[in-house]
Amino acid sequence: MTYPIYLDHNATTPVDPRVLEAMLPYFTEHFGNAASRTHVFGLNAADAVAHARQQLADLLNASPVELVFTSGATESINLALKGVFEANQHRGNHIITVQTEHKAVLDVCEHLAQLGAEITYLPPNPDGLVTPEQVAAAMTPATILVSVMWANNETGTIQPVEAIAETVHQHGALFHTDATQAVGKLLIDLSQTRIDLLSLSGHKLYAPKGIGALYVRKKTPLIAQQDGGRHERARRSGTLNVPGIVALGKAAELAQTEMLTEAPRLAALRNRLETGILANFPDVQVNGSRAHRLPNTTNLAFPNVDGEALLMSLNEIAVSNGSACTAASTDPSHVLKALGLSDDLAYASVRFSLGLNSTEANIDRAIEHVANVVGRLRVVGV
Ligand SMILES: *Cc1c(COP(=O)(O)O)cnc(C)c1O
Repeated sequence: MTYPIYLDHNATTPVDPRVLEAMLPYFTEHFGNAASRTHVFGLNAADAVAHARQQLADLLNASPVELVFTSGATESINLALKGVFEANQHRGNHIITVQTEHKAVLDVCEHLAQLGAEITYLPPNPDGLVTPEQVAAAMTPATILVSVMWANNETGTIQPVEAIAETVHQHGALFHTDATQAVGKLLIDLSQTRIDLLSLSGHKLYAPKGIGALYVRKKTPLIAQQDGGRHERARRSGTLNVPGIVALGKAAELAQTEMLTEAPRLAALRNRLETGILANFPDVQVNGSRAHRLPNTTNLAFPNVDGEALLMSLNEIAVSNGSACTAASTDPSHVLKALGLSDDLAYASVRFSLGLNSTEANIDRAIEHVANVVGRLRVVGV
C-alpha cells in the first residue's frame, strides 16, 4: 500500500531518528533507575535526566528546577489546574479559560466545577482571539487561575499569552498556558513573561508519546496530584521515564537549533498549500486568524461540500477534521463552533498541519488531490 501524505503533525509527529538514537541506550545499556544513588546504573540515568532537563530548560529559558516531567500534556494540565485549585482554595474558587481550549483543559475545568469551582469560559472573537481586556473584565476577587492556550491545535491561532499573563498578575491570580502546540514552533522565553505554569508534550515535537512536562515557576503554590516516592521535588511521584525524558531533551535541543530555519520553511510551504487551494476554490475560507497563526497550520472551510464525503474522499492525504483527541465524537468541532461557523461548515473544514517531512513536492500533490476531490464532490453535488 502507498501511504497518504502526512499532513497531521498537530495530532502527533514521528520520532526524529536523532531523538530515537539518543534514547535507545537508556532502554538497555543504561537502564538504571534515576532514583538509585548507590551505583553507577542509577547515577548514569540521573545524569541523563539532568542533561535533558537542562536541554528543555534552555529551549524555554527557564530554570531546570522549574520543570516537572509527566506522561504528556494531558497530565501536565491536570496537575497544573487541579494542583493550583487545591493549593488556593482558601483564596477563591474562580477559574477563567476560553471556549476554544483543548478538551484536556475543558474537561479538567468541568471536573473542578463538580468540586465547587466556578468557571468562566470566554468566547473568542471570530478570528479565535481573546484579549487581555476581556480577561481583565472577567476577573473577580475570587479568581485564582486563568488558563489560555498559547496556540490552538485546530486552527493554529496564537493567543497574546504574554500580555494576558501580565494582566492576570496585576489582578493577583496565577496564569497557566497549554503550550503543547507552541513549544518547538515558536520562540518562548519564560524569563521575559509572567507565565506561572506551562504544559507541553513530547509527541508534538518529534519525541515519543507518553512523555511531557509542566513548567512551574519558582514559589508557585501547587499540590501534587500523584503521591508516592516524592520524585520531581514531590510534585509528581513515580519512577522517571528515563528514555522518554532523554528523548524530550534531545527534541528540545533540535527544536532550538532548527526552529529559526524550520519555521519559515514550513510557513512558506503552508502558504503554498493555502494559495494553491484558494486559487482553485476562491470561496474557501481560512478558519482563525491568518496574522496570528502557527507557521505549520491551516484550517480551511469548504462551502457547498458534504463534510463526511470530503474527509472520506481525501484518502491520499492524512488530515483531520477537528482534533484527534475528540475524533471519537461526531459533534462538529467546538473550536470552529466558537468561531461562529455553522455545523455544515464546521464539518466541511479540514486541518492541514505540516512538519519536518513536508516537502514542496508533496504539498503540490496535496493541492492537486484536494482540487480533484472537491471539484468532483461539487459536480455530483453531495
Ligand atoms: C496534543 C495536545 C494535548 C494533549 O497532549 P497529550 O500529550 O497527548 O496528552 C493538549 N493540548 C493541546 C493543544 C494539544 O495539541
